[in-house]
Amino acid sequence: MTALWLYLGSAIALAIVACMLAAWACFSDRSRGRRRCPKCWYSIHESLSYPTHCSECGREIAREKDLHRTRRRWKWIGASAIVLFVAAFIAVQPKVQPFGWGSMTPMTALIFLLQFDDTDWVVRGIESQINYDLFHRRRAPDFLDHWNPAKEKAMWRWQWRWLGRTILPRLDDEDLDPFARRNYFDWIALCRDFAGDRQLHAEATEALRKQMSDEAPWARNRGWMLAVDYSDIDGSIDWLLERLENAPDDDAIWGAMMGLRVVAWRDRRGVDLLLEFLDHEHPRMRSGAVTNLGFVVHRNGFEAEIHDAVDAMKDDEDCDVRLERIRSLAFMLTEEHMWPMIVAAMESEDICVRRGGFGAGNTHVYEWRGRATTMPARIVELAVASIDDEDEAIRRSAAWIVAGAATDDRRRQMVLPHVEAIEQHAEHEDLSVKQAIDAALRDLRR
Ligand SMILES: [Zn+2]
Repeated sequence: MTALWLYLGSAIALAIVACMLAAWACFSDRSRGRRRCPKCWYSIHESLSYPTHCSECGREIAREKDLHRTRRRWKWIGASAIVLFVAAFIAVQPKVQPFGWGSMTPMTALIFLLQFDDTDWVVRGIESQINYDLFHRRRAPDFLDHWNPAKEKAMWRWQWRWLGRTILPRLDDEDLDPFARRNYFDWIALCRDFAGDRQLHAEATEALRKQMSDEAPWARNRGWMLAVDYSDIDGSIDWLLERLENAPDDDAIWGAMMGLRVVAWRDRRGVDLLLEFLDHEHPRMRSGAVTNLGFVVHRNGFEAEIHDAVDAMKDDEDCDVRLERIRSLAFMLTEEHMWPMIVAAMESEDICVRRGGFGAGNTHVYEWRGRATTMPARIVELAVASIDDEDEAIRRSAAWIVAGAATDDRRRQMVLPHVEAIEQHAEHEDLSVKQAIDAALRDLRR
């Protein structure tokens, strides 16, 4: 925020200077009744008969009016243009530095360039404009959480169609850069929904459903979520339920639950189905429902019925269900209620609830970073005390909570009293813990 204002402030200051300079160079030296040669500005007092020539420089003077011109200082006008250009250059830096010049390039030009190659700056430029500008990824861990059909109008249909046609054939390309691939899968879902092209719609749906057998877990999850088709909610629900019916494996359960979450964003039936699955005999179904109800509330807004149903799972016999209940509730509650709930979970006797508490603490220490926050210092104390916990999930979350808190000025004050205790874990044998401690100490020594 400070850096942003520094950039904008200096750009505005420079622009004001440039405008004042230009105004001075254009208007300060008016004739005000003086009679001057329009070229060399030599004062002419005698009366003339036109046309005539300046006695100093020989410039032709056609009429009396020519003697009353305003003198423009062209060099200074040029200088002010340069200053204005520098101001504009500075003003775009907050966007150009993280996202590259592609973020400032027109979308049509970027899609055109994409025809030739998956050039990194082009892909990043499109990413910045779609994922961040249209879908506000900065405000959500995942831009799909802000899926908003009104945004489709920010791009023309033919642009969505052209983008879709460009990337669809590349989804199967094994040499495709992973960063480009990940984006292409997200974008193909948008192109499917926004391009208004039936053929593209069918091909994109097929490509996305194929992704659910991808090797990478993120790609499978993405496939499940993106394969939900808002123009055919009934068909999407049937398709998800069908996949849950015949002895599904853990992946398919997890994926179908994510699919129901995406349905629930738009359609009540998704919520009702997830609520029903809370009672399912298969623990994986219950924990999937618990998790995804949290995401639904996080996006759609608080709903007491959903909150109470998830809250009521506290005595479930399954460890994952009790763990996911904490993470899910954290997504439902406002900060003011969330942090005390997380602290209580971190202090619980039940190791599953503790895991949930540390996991939620880790998520939200990053999620709320940079905002005014009510995160209590107790979170940091508990995390520091658990960096060496024998439970892998707990010690890793603990270490990353410390690292997350160290990233911003206000919460750094909560971590500073524990520097010595943190340093003792600098050579921790768990690589993830070591990385987190390295990051925390780097931030603390800044
Ligand atoms: Zn002259």
